[in-house]
Amino acid sequence: MKRCEVDRSKISPMMKQYMDIKDKYDDSILFFRLGDFYEMFFEDAMICTKELELALTGKQAGLDERIPMCGIPYHAYQGYLEKLIDKGYKVAICEQMSDPKLTKGMVDREVTQVITKGTILDNTLDSKNSNYIGNIYDFEYCYGISYTDISTGYFYCFILEHQKDQLIKEVVNRGLCEIIVNFNIDREIVNVLRESYHLPVTISDDIYQDENYEYLYQNISDIRLVTTIKHLLAYLIETKKGNLQHLQPVEIIDIHQYLLFDIHTKRNLELVETLRLKERTYSLLWLLDKNKTAMGSRLLRYNIENPLTKKEDLERRYNFIEVLRTEFILKEELKQALDAIYDLERIIARVSYGNVNARDLLQLKNSLSILPEIKRILTELHFDREIDPLDELYDLLNRSINEDAPIGLKDGGLIKPLYNEELDELKKLSKGSKNFIVELEQQEKERTGIKNLKVGFNKVFGYYIEVSKASIPLVKEEFGYERKQTLANCERFITPLLKEKEDIILGAEEKMINLEYQLFMNIREVVKRYIGKIQLNSKVIAEIDMLQSFATVAEENNYVRPKLTKDSSVRIIESRHPVVEKVLKKDYVPNDIIMGKDTDILLITGPNMAGKSTYMRQFAIIVIMAQIGCFVPCKSCTMPIFDQIFTRIGASDDLVSGESTFMVEMKEANTAIAHATKNSLILFDELGRGTATYDGMSLAQAILEYIHDKISAKTLFSTHYHELTTLAADLPRLRNVHVSAVEEDGMITFLHKVKSGAVDKSYGIHVASLANLPDSLIQRAEEILNIYENQGESKQTFTQTSLFLGLDEKKDEKNVVLEKLKEVNPLEITPIEALNFLYQLKKMMDDK
Ligand code: ADP
Repeated sequence: MKRCEVDRSKISPMMKQYMDIKDKYDDSILFFRLGDFYEMFFEDAMICTKELELALTGKQAGLDERIPMCGIPYHAYQGYLEKLIDKGYKVAICEQMSDPKLTKGMVDREVTQVITKGTILDNTLDSKNSNYIGNIYDFEYCYGISYTDISTGYFYCFILEHQKDQLIKEVVNRGLCEIIVNFNIDREIVNVLRESYHLPVTISDDIYQDENYEYLYQNISDIRLVTTIKHLLAYLIETKKGNLQHLQPVEIIDIHQYLLFDIHTKRNLELVETLRLKERTYSLLWLLDKNKTAMGSRLLRYNIENPLTKKEDLERRYNFIEVLRTEFILKEELKQALDAIYDLERIIARVSYGNVNARDLLQLKNSLSILPEIKRILTELHFDREIDPLDELYDLLNRSINEDAPIGLKDGGLIKPLYNEELDELKKLSKGSKNFIVELEQQEKERTGIKNLKVGFNKVFGYYIEVSKASIPLVKEEFGYERKQTLANCERFITPLLKEKEDIILGAEEKMINLEYQLFMNIREVVKRYIGKIQLNSKVIAEIDMLQSFATVAEENNYVRPKLTKDSSVRIIESRHPVVEKVLKKDYVPNDIIMGKDTDILLITGPNMAGKSTYMRQFAIIVIMAQIGCFVPCKSCTMPIFDQIFTRIGASDDLVSGESTFMVEMKEANTAIAHATKNSLILFDELGRGTATYDGMSLAQAILEYIHDKISAKTLFSTHYHELTTLAADLPRLRNVHVSAVEEDGMITFLHKVKSGAVDKSYGIHVASLANLPDSLIQRAEEILNIYENQGESKQTFTQTSLFLGLDEKKDEKNVVLEKLKEVNPLEITPIEALNFLYQLKKMMDDK
């Protein structure tokens, strides 16, 4: 039965209450608290039974048919909740607002929060990643975008051109995990975000109307940005329902402050995860992350995704790394101190939101206790940012919170002795009465002569005196025992004195728990006043942590300080790819990247597997490392500051368009050409290979000429088209380099050494033999190559250095094998397909 089919006039009052609440949270799964369970009904129940593998049951609710229902125990709901959130659902938690035991009639119920992918605030979040929720406000001529990580309070905004592709790229590139859009937005965008990127998208026009959060945007004059921020705030307040005072004033992202690149570049350069396995291990982030704190790790990721462009900022970071490298002892002390700092940003978010527990406050206290040490070290290192140790706050937490306080706030044991007199009194009273009861057992044994008499306690009957069946005849009236409970082998009694002490103990305990809870809440309120100061400290800590991480990595791997030039010359001597170098068992071959003021383009030729794309990636990675303020893997590095990086490297991973590799290639080439400036870096790896040889080559040449004449961006362009190397004669700012290999006794060794000039020999077939293709096939390929090379010479056309060479140009109608070869594009088939194809060819040859 569906919810919309229900005749509401017939349902039970509780089901009516459910329906009214569910109406307001139509797009969420409603966890409806019923005693010790959260119950789900109707479609929600169907989803939960499927996604959480729960048993579907039914509930009688006044209708003929039972309502579909399933449930989970309230104390174990967390795991179920996470699963649903992870799958992109929203969950509204509806609690009982009064104690059912004390309530006449129906218990009040209210949704206390809605939990979504972008608004989780608990310990399940990955501490090394930010968790951004964002908003797109479509103004019809531009988009306003704002996004925040509510687990840390960082909040950003910017305006974007009204360009769909660009918008989607931005959203994905910035790692937003949940999006709110206004009604104006093109539904195609919503579909792409939902279907292709599996992002939860909420469509709403609500705008925040109050002024409580005005401090977030009071310095922003652009009304579009303010609208965007208020749009996001409305959603956050509606879902979180708690205080979000830890949100930090919104920072406007000025794209000119950052080195820009898009999601393809980020993926291809494996900046934060590897291309194939999508894992952090072996990414640049993995290599550089020697942070001791989660805050440092998150800042590093933010920097890798948003490198800087201001020379002063970068030099400042380099200077500090240099200081750390010379002040070895202080650096070690700093690392040790940072190691003891907890995730202050996330603790403070929980303080603000109100779900902080005593253990969080202990972590806060322990972190605060380290701040004076960090302050001392930073002063000695002459670091230009200050730490405020917040002594008073430390003192308060140190006096108040019990070292082994439990997680729950209603279990007592939160507060230390001597913090509050009333609490101490209650503790004394309770302890005194407990001692009395312990002594009472002995006294009663002596008074009654019943040796095996015991004093016990259970939750239902409270304190009792237990006498075994055998000793019951010894119980006399004058003892004043009142029978309370009869069990199989004993009876339990109470006495007025016992009852009196019990009242004192239980009363004191209840009072203690309430008082401790109240005291804890008061402490939490005091901590709230320090939110801003703790956030400032967190920023300094995150930054020094990231810089010590840079210094550590630089030292471990022999990185050097880059020299940033004003002119556009690049001179990177003996550079390495930092991750490949780290991963390779054998020695990495360093290479120079030299592009003087009068060189814009390096045209790189060389056989497959020679190291062309590694060389190109290496350049981009060095640029990114330099522009996050890190030292770089080479012997010396002089480079300008780049404004953008464009890449077309490796296979296309465009999920969205379903376009051919070639189309994506051309689109990306177009993006580069349309947006690159003379300060940009362009990396094109075998551009044009996705189409017929002449087409590809002509396009490649035209693109090179265009970049050369119209853009002058620093460009690395690798190619199979050997003919393009003659361009150097006409394009003065293009230089040929090649990656060499040596051949000995028919075996090929890749030297991975980049040298001046064009490649003189193709090794494609040798590479194929390394891939263990059958000998007969390799022989045949060599024969074919000979034919082509001879014809090529006579026609004065070109030799192609790819695996299956220049076959497009051959017209031999009778040769079916060649025809077949013509149809295949080796770059688009898998090794297995290639092998099958070979068998087919072989069979055709044999048949002939
Ligand atoms: P290409 O783009 O020319 O086909 P790649 O850049 O993909 O070649 O490199 C092929 C392999 O050679 C890589 O897997 C890498 O391990 C190795 N390699 C590349 N450059 C170097 C180098 N400079 N030193 C050592 N090994 C390298």
